[in-house]
Amino acid sequence: MDKKEYMEEAEKVLLHTYKRYEIILDKGEGVYLYDIDGKKYLDFASGIAVFALGYNNTEYNNALKVQIDKLIHTSNYYYNIPAVEAAKKIKKAAGLDRVFFTNSGTEAIEGAIKLAKKYAYNKSGVADNEIISLNNSFHGRSMGALSVTGNSDYQKAFKPLIKGAKFADMNDLDSVKSQVNHKTCAIIIEPVQGEGGIHTADKEFLEGVKFICQEKDILLIFDEIQCGMGRTGAMFAFQNYGVKPDIMTCAKALGCGVAVGAFAASEKVAAAMVPGDHGTTYGGNPLCCTAVSTVFDLFESEKILENVAEVTPYLEAELDKLVSEYEFIKERRGMGFMQGVEFSVPVGEVILKAQEKGLIIITAGKNVVRLVPPLIITKEHVDEMICKFKAAIEDAAVKSE
Ligand SMILES: *Cc1c(COP(=O)(O)O)cnc(C)c1O
Repeated sequence: MDKKEYMEEAEKVLLHTYKRYEIILDKGEGVYLYDIDGKKYLDFASGIAVFALGYNNTEYNNALKVQIDKLIHTSNYYYNIPAVEAAKKIKKAAGLDRVFFTNSGTEAIEGAIKLAKKYAYNKSGVADNEIISLNNSFHGRSMGALSVTGNSDYQKAFKPLIKGAKFADMNDLDSVKSQVNHKTCAIIIEPVQGEGGIHTADKEFLEGVKFICQEKDILLIFDEIQCGMGRTGAMFAFQNYGVKPDIMTCAKALGCGVAVGAFAASEKVAAAMVPGDHGTTYGGNPLCCTAVSTVFDLFESEKILENVAEVTPYLEAELDKLVSEYEFIKERRGMGFMQGVEFSVPVGEVILKAQEKGLIIITAGKNVVRLVPPLIITKEHVDEMICKFKAAIEDAAVKSE
């Protein structure tokens, strides 16, 4: 079959939940992807902030191959060593005490919500509680995660959602305060919002929310699924703020390509869950946990955080230059290797033109180009990205006139 036939087949057999780009990716090497025709793309999307270590990392691949030959799955009825190793590394990196492994980000959110609810239930004996989330947030597509996702377009066809989800505005502490009442059991925040358009929390805002939480014994949940794992320059974004959550969710780059998520909590909060309260068949299996454990090791040996810190000022400066060159680009925002460039016009055409020029970038909302490259990019890759991004803008701008 040729490319067109494969795409037609795909449209016949897959549920139509995505408008896919007309690219069939075949393999990856470092920060480059190749399609089935051998066309090379510089990847500034990393499979949506997943491939932090880049593609085809030999050590990562070998660790997984060894584990595949040993044991892939056991169920959680038994202990497995990779799960213990992986949990210890998350615990140490996040400064939290206990970890539950899931198969995705949305499941990590489900677990975090259940934990917050159980904690509140244990205190009051009443199961009627509320969770405050933020407008523009994204926490996942399953029913619980969707309920706390601040995007009514995603929600409207799927009501009724779980009761008691309330919404406030990012960086508006009063809007949070106005939603707090005696039923509030948790406040959930992405320190840097991803899907919603790359919006960064202010330090005072997170400190203010933390203060409210401590005062009223409300749990603070940070969704680090996209902004975590080194993307902002710290292992977890909250560490840039010095504001620690009671519960943290993680996924995407946690396994760098293997489907795995996790939620972690302080001892006091985690103690609310007892056998029977939560579970998963696949979650925490030896294969995924080997991936997690290896990812943490490689972050250290390959000095990933150091690279993000070193290249970020250059990336930001180059993007700022680009922003200043075009009237129809409004601003750059973000942190580390999680950057958004907001246009005053839709960016769909720019994304397509970039693909033509061999650059993979994605959107975060209609007008925002999202840059979430592998964390191993160098200044040379930034130069290549800027060059291609510019060429794409020029081409698209001609068209939009
Ligand atoms: C991607 C994402 C999720 C959902 O993760 P899935 O693995 O797609 O279920 C939740 N929260 C944030 C912040 C995300 O970026």
